[in-house]
Amino acid sequence: MKALIVVDYTYDFIAEDGRLTCGEPGRQIEERVALLAETFWDKGHYVIFAVDVHEENDPFHPETALFPPHNVRGTKGRALFGSAGIVYERLARQDQDRLYWLDKTRYSAFAGTNLEIKLRERGITELHLAGVCTDICILHTAIDAFNRGFSVTIHQDAVQSFSKTGHEWALNHFENVLGANVTASYDVPSVD
Ligand code: ZN
Repeated sequence: MKALIVVDYTYDFIAEDGRLTCGEPGRQIEERVALLAETFWDKGHYVIFAVDVHEENDPFHPETALFPPHNVRGTKGRALFGSAGIVYERLARQDQDRLYWLDKTRYSAFAGTNLEIKLRERGITELHLAGVCTDICILHTAIDAFNRGFSVTIHQDAVQSFSKTGHEWALNHFENVLGANVTASYDVPSVD
């Protein structure tokens, strides 16, 4: 079993009026993200939606000084965007053991969560990442995965960022520094 982690593909990060939106580039990967989730599911893999959760203006949170409020608990900003939300709802009506909604409070999906336990108890060593932002939450999750000995695949046409420079820098970093497999979603049908 492998795991696909869809990171922060929510209203606030993707929608035109989202509070910390990646804009049009974020919306361009919508169908790719949804296709990946469906394909991994169909092949019997573990599909995780890792989703930021913040308290509005939390004085103790390091992101408060860095970014506008986003993905605030109880707001529509935390809803999965578009096709990703539709796929999640469809899968949630099926096998709950292979679908996981993971709230996270930091960039990395490993920070302060039970993600590693969920992966280890299933014997999963191979992680696939999609979503946003390439150079922030995807990057920090990939670094933590690298440090924990997981193999990492980045689906490059299913990740995006506010920053084109940051996106491109991170893709290079994944491949050349973290030893990740950087691939495109059109390879998905070969996922086994
Ligand atoms: Zn955040």
